[in-house]
Amino acid sequence: MRIPLRGRFTATAAAALSLAMAVTLGAQAAAVGTDAAPDTRTTAEEIPGVYEVRGVSSATQRSVLAAHGVSIDAVDDHSVTVTADKATAKRLRSMGYLLDEIPQAVPDALPQDASGGGDFSVTSTPSQYTSYAQMTATVNSLVSRHPNLMTRQVIGRSHQGREIIAVKMSNNARVDHNRPEVLFSHNMHAREHLTTEMALYLMNEFATGYGQDSRITNMMNTREIWIIPTLNPDGKVWDQDSGTFRNWRKNRQPNSGSTAIGTDINRNFAYLWGCCGGSSTNPASDTYRGPSAESAPETRVLTNFVRSRVIGGRQQITAHIDFHTYSELILWPFGYTYNDTATGLNQDQHNVFATVGRQMAASNGYRPQQSSDLYITDGSISDWMWGNQRIWSYTFEMYPRTASQGGFYPPGSVINRETARNREAVLILLENADCMYRSIGKPQLCTT
Ligand SMILES: [Zn+2]
Repeated sequence: MRIPLRGRFTATAAAALSLAMAVTLGAQAAAVGTDAAPDTRTTAEEIPGVYEVRGVSSATQRSVLAAHGVSIDAVDDHSVTVTADKATAKRLRSMGYLLDEIPQAVPDALPQDASGGGDFSVTSTPSQYTSYAQMTATVNSLVSRHPNLMTRQVIGRSHQGREIIAVKMSNNARVDHNRPEVLFSHNMHAREHLTTEMALYLMNEFATGYGQDSRITNMMNTREIWIIPTLNPDGKVWDQDSGTFRNWRKNRQPNSGSTAIGTDINRNFAYLWGCCGGSSTNPASDTYRGPSAESAPETRVLTNFVRSRVIGGRQQITAHIDFHTYSELILWPFGYTYNDTATGLNQDQHNVFATVGRQMAASNGYRPQQSSDLYITDGSISDWMWGNQRIWSYTFEMYPRTASQGGFYPPGSVINRETARNREAVLILLENADCMYRSIGKPQLCTT
């Protein structure tokens, strides 16, 4: 097994990592082997295609296109990039859409080594990105080296029985302080592997920066930080562990009455689920919302965890980022409506979302906007987090900006740069998390 060693890990850390891996791989194999249903699909399962759709330029046009069940991965002024199965692509063409297929990683063609070259714009390989097993080992290693600053807990299991973990970080992580809590969730969409790297970067940064960096130390002393490095382990393993990327987005839950696999976790949340044409009823779609809200175990694991942080009638988590790739965007609620304000989201609250969103964007160069400025989505995590729990929830779409820069599979050489790029944005959110209304000069609106 190749273990990716990158700049941020020291040789000592690497040694500890190797040791931890030897221990945890055995434990994990036992766990998955005994109570996880095997993923019986073979590589014959269709790899969705990536297409540029020309002449789609407004949010309304994009919403109409998305309503046909494609996931829109990137947007520019005159076109969008979508992922679609072949049947859907054919149907779109028959409706008059202009689709150009963009060559992507396919199992038979993906170079097995980054130095192997090839004709593909995709130059990353699965081994350059941390696998689920390696993530588990890395987290265990970090926790064992920083036992006062980090704890790890299993918050639930995926459809196939894999552990979904949350790491808690503070200056005394084993104590449940009465402090604002901030959640960072990652890798809900299987192929968005850079987001798992983002989680590991944050853990490493908070652990090693404590006592060294004044802002990090201050946040560790006054906040409780939760990091869920992989919300969709089945999808991640499916996309990565065969050695060839499969362009997979959803979870790996079968659908009754269909051979199509998977629910889009980010259309499965229980806030106005399926309300507004922003998700698909077709199990073959990349944006399939599932048969009911929270039908995906992974959705329920997240929402149960968030609900478990309501203590004394008060939600302890005040702010949240859900990390995705790609497009370099910072998005805020609501996604289900084009309106800036709606029931449960007043003008001051919109202004807070936009103000802090723009501050974060100024630090990382992403584009800040309301989620629906892209296209309508319903049942998304950020709509639920705000609409149901009043948590200031942002969705980040990380590097790159376009499909031609690597799309979901940029080269592993960008990992250090593109995770560190969000350091300041994360600190901005943490520093605002005790009173987000302060950002618009209305701290009196913060209840205590
Ligand atoms: Zn995503």
